[in-house]
Amino acid sequence: MSYASTCHCGAIGATISGDLPAEAMTCNCSICRRKGTVLHFVPAGEATLEAPADKLGDYTFNKNAIHHHFCLVCGCTPFTTGTDPQGNEMVAVNLRCVPECDLDRLKLTAIDGASF
Ligand SMILES: [Zn+2]
Repeated sequence: MSYASTCHCGAIGATISGDLPAEAMTCNCSICRRKGTVLHFVPAGEATLEAPADKLGDYTFNKNAIHHHFCLVCGCTPFTTGTDPQGNEMVAVNLRCVPECDLDRLKLTAIDGASF
């Protein structure tokens, strides 16, 4: 099975192999608190990105380790990309952009990203 996280207009997105997760993370860092993302991290090899260069916004800050992608057409953030502390390429899926994900049933873990 797979599931897809897509922006509102469909220009960008990520298709993830595997089942929808039952758990996700919220984060209080300066960008997550503004965007309200609900994140699930997967190895980059499990994600197929739809990311045309003329539609993909890329915002970085701090150590520029995470690419906070967004759609240049509709503004949504279906995924971000980056590397974990071990250097592995990761994709953070924003489960708010997965229509079939029941957000109210997710077990959420709050990450104190503001202190990183
Ligand atoms: Zn869009």
